[in-house]
Amino acid sequence: MATIGFIGLGIMGRPMSKHLINAGHTLVVYDIVPAAVADVVAAGAQAGTSVADVAARTPIIITMLPDSPDVQKVLAGPDGVFSAAKKGSLIIDMSTISPVVTRQLAEQAEKLGLRILDAPVSGGERGAIDATLSIMVGGPAELFQEALPLFQIMGKTIVHVGGNGAGQVVKACNQIMVAMQMEAMAEALVLGTKAGVDPAKIIEVLTGGYARSRVMEVRGPEILKRNFKPGFKVNLHYKDLNIALATGSEYGVPLPGTALVHELFGAMKVAGRGDYDHSGIITILEELAKVEVRGT
Ligand code: NAD
Repeated sequence: MATIGFIGLGIMGRPMSKHLINAGHTLVVYDIVPAAVADVVAAGAQAGTSVADVAARTPIIITMLPDSPDVQKVLAGPDGVFSAAKKGSLIIDMSTISPVVTRQLAEQAEKLGLRILDAPVSGGERGAIDATLSIMVGGPAELFQEALPLFQIMGKTIVHVGGNGAGQVVKACNQIMVAMQMEAMAEALVLGTKAGVDPAKIIEVLTGGYARSRVMEVRGPEILKRNFKPGFKVNLHYKDLNIALATGSEYGVPLPGTALVHELFGAMKVAGRGDYDHSGIITILEELAKVEVRGT
């Protein structure tokens, strides 16, 4: 059994860290929100007093933070993981961040004698709670093999997709697919409702046919209840589409659909709904069509 540091105990980090505890590992955890630390300590973890404290006490450090600047600060900032970790430590960043930043951090880590993987996840809060996440891993093959038993505790579909940064590239691809399915579902339900059909019937029949999607299966019924509690926040998906667009521009790949949904998520932020679940994108389309989608 290993001693593992876990930094970032939000919607995803909390259940993921608890699975590692339940599997018998010793966890030292840290978050800037004390209540988040207290929650995981109540499940059996030790409290770290700072990022550097966690890094100094553990040979494997997992991060699950919001965005690129957060990961840069926690890993490479003053009193960050890089400054405190022992040589040879294994750092696994499971956050969704820019592939370019990931590659820069990997270069820095290597120069310091540290080992690093990017391992973003898909499957949402439900996947984190059920330990059924898809995990896309970038970095050296031998590090992937070393970390695999830990990934298997938190996820189900675990794929080594290439070198450092490749995990984040694949995650950007994932976020493009999910974003456009959210938008497609919203258009379908708004059109169907305004044209006089019960949206529950639309969901029932579409989830059995070629248009079937996990997005509709999971979020469709919640839309009918007007439940937009996150799940996955609009703010985070907006951030992820920024990453996808920047990556597209770096490699010369136009992403017109992604740009459209990015702007609709932007409209959600302007409307003060950045903390809604990303399925809340439907509220913008409802406003355009002057109709509300509700279950019967
Ligand atoms: P969250 O906002 O709920 O959690 C992030 C946590 O990091 C918070 O508890 C915050 O206090 C903490 N944090 C921020 N800065 C910190 C710092 N400097 N030091 C220590 N802790 C710090 O976000 P989340 O939904 O758990 O998502 C985390 C990452 O996983 C994001 O990159 C997100 O895009 C990705 N992700 C989320 C989902 C989802 O459905 N929620 C699914 C897949 C991937």
